[in-house]
Amino acid sequence: MLKEAGEELAEALRADLGKAAPESFLSEIDFVTAEVRRMRGRLRSWFRPERVRTPPHLQPAKSYLLREPLGLVLVIGPFNYPVQLTLVPLAGALACGNAAIVKPSESSPRTSATLARLLGQYLDPEAVAVVEGGPETTSSLLAERMDHIFFTGSARVGRIVAKAAAEHLTPVTLELGGKSPVIVERDVDLAVAARRITWAKFMNAGQTCLAPDYVIALDGVGPDLERHLAEAVREMYGHSPADSPDYGRIVDERSFDRLSAYLSEGRLVCGGGYNRETRYIAPTVLADVDAGDAVMAEEVFGPVLPILTMATLDEAIAHVNAGEQPLALYAFTNSEATRRRLLTRTSSGAIGFNAPMAHIDVPGLPFGGVGASGIGAYHGKWSIETFSHTKAVFDKPLAPDTMQVVYPPFTSMKEKIMRRLRY
Ligand code: NAD
Repeated sequence: MLKEAGEELAEALRADLGKAAPESFLSEIDFVTAEVRRMRGRLRSWFRPERVRTPPHLQPAKSYLLREPLGLVLVIGPFNYPVQLTLVPLAGALACGNAAIVKPSESSPRTSATLARLLGQYLDPEAVAVVEGGPETTSSLLAERMDHIFFTGSARVGRIVAKAAAEHLTPVTLELGGKSPVIVERDVDLAVAARRITWAKFMNAGQTCLAPDYVIALDGVGPDLERHLAEAVREMYGHSPADSPDYGRIVDERSFDRLSAYLSEGRLVCGGGYNRETRYIAPTVLADVDAGDAVMAEEVFGPVLPILTMATLDEAIAHVNAGEQPLALYAFTNSEATRRRLLTRTSSGAIGFNAPMAHIDVPGLPFGGVGASGIGAYHGKWSIETFSHTKAVFDKPLAPDTMQVVYPPFTSMKEKIMRRLRY
């Protein structure tokens, strides 16, 4: 499906979000293909029963772990990477032998319709159903008993999902967002740092859960970094990003209105242009932003990059720790001491040094948040943990009956043996 209908999916993504085809293949279609391919290659070893040691007092016996499917998994997707964020969880759910219902986001309607048609065509309808619709449809799905709910989206809706799941004691994975900071120190090549920040921030017009949300400029790097960021934006999207075939659009008017209100805050470094009709907001960098500004109050989730200036790493750490735990924390640094301090004194779903967002592409790393940025994780082996139950199996022969020692009536001899064998 991903091979044969790749172009079709890319077309739908362009219609919904103005995504450039190469970006759609990189971050969505080929991303899923790679995950499926890896899973198929490793399934046999992941599902092999795993022996664990049986302690002496229970011998002879064997003990092992057996993975079993959970049953029916509900996958609820967001609008921003509507292919990747429905199909990667689906791949995990199916790999573990579950049936699944996929509910794509109504805010990416073309992609939702395309997925509904293609999944119906390519996959066994007994195993996979796609239900299209918005909050009302989702609410009625949530009222049903599921065996696992895998939700990607906002914390607001995540709470609704968790509450509904609690009614049936259904376990949930919540892949949420948050304000992922990027700390920039003086000792790095600022031109490279700016390019990497620009790429990660303005991909999909900033509508990426892992995108750098804001920058903390340390050691007075602010003015130089501003210059490099403006240059990197020009390099990637030209003088008029509105005309760049590589630059996306905001998903809907509501998001557009929220984002365009930020444009008057701080001092404009670059960007600032917008067009409500085409839902275009230029890649925008704002300097001299105050921690109390609206753009710092919630996840930006759009192409506006505020820069805060701080004097020390301690101040930056205190600022990060005063907020919710982000999905990712990024730092551009060459200092081992800085790495160590960030690793041990902050908490986030992931931490990326000198390259925002790239960790999502490392198959061995779990993808997920902590605290307000989410519950649980997936990708590769981590998806297997999420979408299966590890059953404990103990198997002991009836003869000889070595368990006689634990049967009443107890004698002092039995007690002595019991206590000795155990420890
Ligand atoms: P959203 O929470 O608005 O919507 C997500 C899904 O929930 C959609 O399918 C939608 O139909 C459904 N929904 C919306 N309102 C509902 C309600 N009242 N009851 C039941 N279901 C409802 O999120 P979004 O705007 O699509 O995505 C943006 C958010 O998702 C951002 O916060 C972003 O950080 C987060 N996100 C996280 C990840 C991740 O992997 N951690 C990835 C992408 C996006």
